[in-house]
Amino acid sequence: GFATGFRWLASAAAPISAAAANTPIKVKLLINGNFVDSATDKWIGVHNPATQDVLSHLPLTTKSEFDSAVSAAAEAFPRWRATPVPTRVRVMFKFQELIRANMEELARSITLEQGKTLADARGDVFRGLEVVETACGIAPFLTGEMLENVAGGIDCYSVRQPLGVVAGICPFNFPAMVPLWMFPLAVTAGNTFLLKPSERDPGAAVMLADLAQQAGLPKGVLNIVHGSRDVVNWICDDPTIRAISFVGSNAAGRYIYARGCAAGKRVQSNLGAKNHAVIMPDADVDSTVKALAGAAFGAAGQRCMAISAAVFVGGLSERWSGPLLEAARSLKVNAGWEKDADLGPMISPEAKSRAERLIASSASQGARVLLDGRGVVVPGYERGNFLGPTVLAGVTPDMECYKEEVFGPVLSCMDAATLDDALAIVNTNEHGNGTAIFTRSGAAARRFQNEVDVGMVGINVPIPVPLPFFSFTGWRGSFVGDLHMYGRSGVQFYTQSKTVTAKWPAEDVAQISSGPSL
Ligand code: NAD
Repeated sequence: GFATGFRWLASAAAPISAAAANTPIKVKLLINGNFVDSATDKWIGVHNPATQDVLSHLPLTTKSEFDSAVSAAAEAFPRWRATPVPTRVRVMFKFQELIRANMEELARSITLEQGKTLADARGDVFRGLEVVETACGIAPFLTGEMLENVAGGIDCYSVRQPLGVVAGICPFNFPAMVPLWMFPLAVTAGNTFLLKPSERDPGAAVMLADLAQQAGLPKGVLNIVHGSRDVVNWICDDPTIRAISFVGSNAAGRYIYARGCAAGKRVQSNLGAKNHAVIMPDADVDSTVKALAGAAFGAAGQRCMAISAAVFVGGLSERWSGPLLEAARSLKVNAGWEKDADLGPMISPEAKSRAERLIASSASQGARVLLDGRGVVVPGYERGNFLGPTVLAGVTPDMECYKEEVFGPVLSCMDAATLDDALAIVNTNEHGNGTAIFTRSGAAARRFQNEVDVGMVGINVPIPVPLPFFSFTGWRGSFVGDLHMYGRSGVQFYTQSKTVTAKWPAEDVAQISSGPSL
């Protein structure tokens, strides 16, 4: 169960649509082990994107509450850091068990606040859970190195130590997975943490923190502050905070990187994306089209690894467009908790109208709208932010829908004469998050894998998000920083090396073997 007031929101016993009838709750802060109401007079509504109902009120944390959260984290650090690694790991073992036990409640909260289908919401929790599982095996990643005899009788060794207080700033699109990319590894490595969830869908993060406390995370090790720009600025500037993990849009991420680095912090910023699929003429039509439709329209296209551009080598012939449109048309747009929903609403009316604007502008620039999701009406949810699957053809790199990250269920189809031409398109785009090639040719796949200037590559795999024993390795415009999130790189981000050079005079041994000289 949950102590945070989210129980009604996520009660498995009640029909999920009934949740909207409840009185909106206040979203709590977590400071020094206590879930508390903010004293602020500034609150913003968290809306159900399928209905516009206000689900909860989120506080814009005050500066003094922020300072208390940072102090709590700083005070908890010495003891937590001194807690043996296996003891810290045992908290994660318990945490993963509690996440599993509360999977449905977490998923329901995500569907209500974020809009994605329950199946996608479970996936959101599950991909985060996998990072928690990896944190249970953190010990080998934390070991250092040693070399004996770097000089006569002198040994040199390095150890990895936690940084201290670190912070995480999250986007709306994966309300469980992204917080779980961050704090489990950070705290298991011995840091204490300040989490700022997305102000659009804070519920899952608060519920997860509740479970982490129940799992035995000592007070002050994980703290939550809510808000938007002000809190972000305080995080960037606060001298106690040593590092920031950010996931979100380009503008915010570059700003946070610059401001955080200027204050002497380590920052990793995962930014926006434009992920291309390259479809070779020899690819299997059925499986490729199915993969494309899922990767472009699933979660209403609001994934940083969604495929938003499909580059057809040899051109988008009827052989491809027919089955692609059929697959896109077969997807059901509905509120995320409805059983037949394949995709839910977009996060906000603004996000939806922006996507519609980009579609219109590209059509006026010469793109052909093969399937138009604008104006889709979902019976019973007429006020929802729905946009149906949209397929644009004849898209060129100068068009708005290509230059901008649409972050909606819109697939831009492009034509390329050869694999070289396709590679040139992908490698010229500013972003370098993910990409995929569909082919039966090992030679084409190998060439693509080797030459593509993108950090995560799928070969006949549409959304190649690495499992957490690897790292999330976005490149170029999709990432600023050095060390990536989760995996070995994530542990390195949350720790620093200390290198010791030690000399123990040999005489000591002789003294000890002749007994203490009293
Ligand atoms: P966003 O940048 O609007 O918000 C992310 C966080 O930054 C929020 O916590 C928000 O409060 C804060 N923020 C927003 N604007 C700010 C500003 N001007 N100053 C200071 N703080 C600010 O992103 P979003 O809309 O929540 O998420 C969608 C974006 O995230 C997309 O661009 C998507 O590609 C990206 N994303 C990237 C990855 C990745 O791993 N690269 C993963 C998920 C999402």
